[in-house]
Amino acid sequence: MNTDGTHVAGKVIVITGAGGGFGRLVAQMGAKLGARIVAADVNAEGLDETVASITDEGGTAVGVTADVTSKADCDRVAAAAVEQFGSIDVLVNNAGIMPLAFFADHEQAWEAWDRAIDINFKGVVHGIASVYDQMVEQGRGHIINISSIYGNHGVAGSGVYSATKAAVGVLSDALRVESQGKIKVTTVRPTGVPATGLGLTVVNYEATVGITGQNTERFGQKLGDWLGGNLGEGADPDDVRYWTLDPTELAEQIIAVIDTPWGVTISDITVRATGEDYVL
Ligand code: NAD
Repeated sequence: MNTDGTHVAGKVIVITGAGGGFGRLVAQMGAKLGARIVAADVNAEGLDETVASITDEGGTAVGVTADVTSKADCDRVAAAAVEQFGSIDVLVNNAGIMPLAFFADHEQAWEAWDRAIDINFKGVVHGIASVYDQMVEQGRGHIINISSIYGNHGVAGSGVYSATKAAVGVLSDALRVESQGKIKVTTVRPTGVPATGLGLTVVNYEATVGITGQNTERFGQKLGDWLGGNLGEGADPDDVRYWTLDPTELAEQIIAVIDTPWGVTISDITVRATGEDYVL
């Protein structure tokens, strides 16, 4: 980990979508560095596993089953953090789904698109609103919003997902300007990281073509090898051909963003594999 944890230890970190994927890893890494974790997820089973994985190792974590599409649920998560630990130092708005589909797929996709707007966009608005007063009252806080490289452009197959993730960046920018001297704001734009649960929320797998563009064939071949357990020439992160990040490498960067003094903000980060095939 490229961080010594000085500015992580003791912080109360609320993480949405902490029942799996990046959210779980950030919760586990934060707890290892001495943070007190409030993990929230709509998936109660995944959430229990996250909390147990932390407390079994002697870390401090509580889980709150919550759906970020509900403002009342987000308020409940914030209240639990204050009740249990007395403050909310960091909120990571991480819960999300990725219902990639072409507009021609609208009949199969529209319900998932509606849900993505509710989770990826409204969920972040709810998260911000649920901690804002507490952070201002405390005199400081840090809100980290997880966008995506998909938020950089609208491409074939990603219209609704890209729009929700672009919206996350816009929300962060406005919040940062309004909160100068009060709340640190960070937008994280992960590159494509296949080994989380997110791929299961894709509606039409052909619609992934937008992220690989002219490299689609090359990427498909590598992905096939990877699924067969062989990362090929790009297996070593010290090799410039390294082509797919491990989720831990992304989570470590989120921790590194937290591990900064209160007066220093990393406002935007995109972490990529040097040899990736993505074109966004
Ligand atoms: P994941 O599916 O492994 O984890 C997402 C978590 O969010 C799950 O535990 C899920 O139960 C939870 N969740 C879903 N809907 C929820 C809701 N309504 N309320 C509360 N929790 C909910 O996916 P991940 O890859 O870890 O994704 C985390 C975030 O990173 C998402 O916002 C995603 O869009 C973003 N992201 C991921 C990638 C990638 O390649 N993995 C790339 C860019 C951005």
